[in-house]
This record gives sequence, structure tokens and C-alpha cells, in this order.
Amino acid sequence: MKEDYYDILGISKDASTAEIKKAYRKRAIKYHPDKNPDDKEAEEMFKKSAEAYEVLSNPDKRARYDQMGHAAFDGSGGFGGGGMNMDDIFSQFGDIFGGAFGGGGGFSGFGGGFGGGQRRAKGSNLRVRVKLDLEEIANGVEKKIRVKRKVQAPGTSYKTCPTCKGTGQVTRVTNTILGRMQTASPCTQCSGSGQIIDKKPSDADAQGLKVQEETVSIKIPAGVVEGMQLKVSGKGNEAPGNGIAGDLLVAIEEKEHENLQREGDNLHYDLYISFSEAALGASKEIQTVNGKVRIKIEPGVQSGKILRLRNKGVPSLNGYGKGDLLVHVNVWTPKTLNKEQKEFFERMQNDENFIPNPEREDKSFFEKVKDMFS
Ligand SMILES: [Zn+2]
Repeated sequence: MKEDYYDILGISKDASTAEIKKAYRKRAIKYHPDKNPDDKEAEEMFKKSAEAYEVLSNPDKRARYDQMGHAAFDGSGGFGGGGMNMDDIFSQFGDIFGGAFGGGGGFSGFGGGFGGGQRRAKGSNLRVRVKLDLEEIANGVEKKIRVKRKVQAPGTSYKTCPTCKGTGQVTRVTNTILGRMQTASPCTQCSGSGQIIDKKPSDADAQGLKVQEETVSIKIPAGVVEGMQLKVSGKGNEAPGNGIAGDLLVAIEEKEHENLQREGDNLHYDLYISFSEAALGASKEIQTVNGKVRIKIEPGVQSGKILRLRNKGVPSLNGYGKGDLLVHVNVWTPKTLNKEQKEFFERMQNDENFIPNPEREDKSFFEKVKDMFS
């Protein structure tokens, strides 16, 4: 059994975003590998806390976790849970510790704060928005996004920092009454990265980087929702030297559809039929996310009836099935009548067939309700 994410962070189920952040920050510092060298238990806690934070700090993932527990991320292919590596974990620190650790771009790296040895610097993340229409969301889509990212300028080379000999830290030996003590602190010449610039072209910045426009391809899985954030690893800004590139974070926006309204994985469609179509039955064209389909309207259909087209909705992001398309039947009542039509309806007014008789509809009404909740 996997441990509960809330328990791991020691917070209640209704904890606010700030509380989650605070709890994680505390644990990240407590269990950080630099503070607990060779302590497997601390490392395990460090990883678990990072995973719990990754899920609970994202409103969408948190909602799915609250609803389904760890099952929400099993076999979901690419999102959330399990298998976070240390790079992922350190990349979180950009958000949580502000500029102090990583994320800030460039050579700031992770050095200082935890008094650790050399760490690879990480480039900053880039954020973009992508607007998708319902068809793209329902079917999944590959999008090409233009991004301006910092890359190592061609012709730039780096060399081992002479001050720290590439270790990223300098040690100082001091004599105290307890004897000789060694203290280590991050190297100031290379900011703890162990490398400095050797040569760089004139159009590169101080870190040997330059801005370049690139097209990045991103595969968007079917079923994404507004506000969700996808990550393309390594497509953010590059870091100097042997550092690792930041990530490209893609926020999903959903365009409104002309005819279809989305509600979770289900779609709703308002169908208008005429008086005579309701009485005589009809064959009508319905817009779906995969083109048009024809449906049969039985004679005597009532306004308000909901027809369910199974599996014509949006696929579940977790890969468990698809939503339905619910067609709401609306009978269009004419607003004006000519003399002839008026006479016809007046004649029909007291005809048995024209008198509402909802009892006779009872059965189909309950079937309708049952259908709605099945
Ligand atoms: Zn150095």
C-alpha cells in the first residue's frame, strides 16, 4: 500500500496551497541528501515528500488524487506519481524556494543553500499557453509551439574552475580549541558549478548563452482540461557548461465550442426539432467531436428527452473509457401562426391525442432518469 500523500506531508485534507508548500519546504530541508549523507531512510522520505508535493500542489492532480487516490496516476502514462528522479525534485525547488535554489536560471545552480558539493546548474523553465478546440482535446493532438529559449551559443566552451578544481566548493581549515576543523562553502568563482567560461562568441551573454527561436513539438494526450500543465522536459532554457536544461511548461486552454458543451468527459448538445418532427419522428444530424452522425428521433418524442450517444464524449485522461454525448431534445414551438395553422390547432385542441398525459410518460421518464445516472 502506498502511503497517503497528506500523511507524508503531515497536513489535513483541506490544507491550503500555502500550507502544502510550507509542509513540503520543511521536509525538503529536513531530509535533504546533503544534510543526511548515506542515510537511505532520509533519502526515501525526501523522494516521497517531493512526490506528494508534486501532486498536491497541482490543483488538477490534487482533485484527481482526492477522488481516486493513488489509482489516479497508475498507468496514466506520463503524468504525476511514481518515478520522480532527483532532477525533477530539484527542479521543484525553483517554485518553492524562490530564486535561492535553481530555477533562477544560469549559474546560480543549487550550490549554496544546503552547503552541498557540486551540482549541475539547471536552466530556468519556460511557460507557454496553448489553446485547443474540443476536437483536439477529444482526439489528442500534436502541437508545434514557437519558443524563444536560451541555448549555449555555438563556439562557447567551458573549462574547469581553477579555484575549486571543479568540485564546486572550497574547503577551509581552521584551528580551534577542539582541533583542526574543515569547513566547506560553495565556490564563488563558479557559483558552485565547477566550471567557468573559457571562450565565447561576442553575441553570447555572460554565461555563454544566447536566445534562439525554436519550434518544439508537443504531444497532447486526449482528455486534458483547462488549466492543466504539461511538461516538456529539457525544452526550457539551457544552462551553461554541463548544466541541465530547464523544462517547457505548457498550460492548456480550452476554446469554447459552437455546439457542444463539455462537462467532465461528457458532452452536451442541444437539438431543436419542429412540432411536426416531434409528432412524426425524424432523422437528424448531430455534431460530434468526430464529425457528424445521424440519429433517429422516434415519433412522439417529448421536449426535454435526453438521448445518450455512448462513447461519443471525451476520452478519460487516465485511459479508462470515454464519456458520452447527451443530446437534449427541444421541441420548437412556433411563435406565429397563419390563419390556416391557427384553425388546425384549434381543431386539435380537444383531441385526445393532443391532451398532455404525463402518466403515460412515467415509465419512459424513469427510464430517462435511470439512464442519466447509469
Ligand atoms: Zn569553482
